Amino acid sequence: MIGSYVTHKTKASLGEGIVLDETSSVATVLWPASSETHTYSKDFLITCDRASNVEITTRLHERRFATMSRRYVGVRLAGAHNQNRVTHCWSCMHDLLGSRDLECRSCGWLVCLCGACGCGYEGPHG
Ligand SMILES: [Zn+2]
Ligand SMILES: [Zn+2]
Repeated sequence: MIGSYVTHKTKASLGEGIVLDETSSVATVLWPASSETHTYSKDFLITCDRASNVEITTRLHERRFATMSRRYVGVRLAGAHNQNRVTHCWSCMHDLLGSRDLECRSCGWLVCLCGACGCGYEGPHG
């Protein structure tokens, strides 16, 4: 599933990665430890259960800004207006918690593990 954490069955040195794209048989994985992206047969990947990972979140957030040609301004701990929020990501539907997740310095929305924030939001009608 896009946005889920995985490890490689035989290459433990890769650490944990996040799925950026996938088909029924292969998945493209970003490995934050080495900043490398590769595509693997899903048979070689094991899904991990991680609640949050600041490094991966910020890397994917920055990547989204790059694709939007916007200057990246970073993330911060969720402010008072977000602290008690419980919502979900508009892009991947992952749960977002103000008590756990970071917020975007540009739009003030909570930033998802997939890197989505309000900056790329296209609205309910696209
Ligand atoms: Zn998301
Ligand atoms: Zn934003």
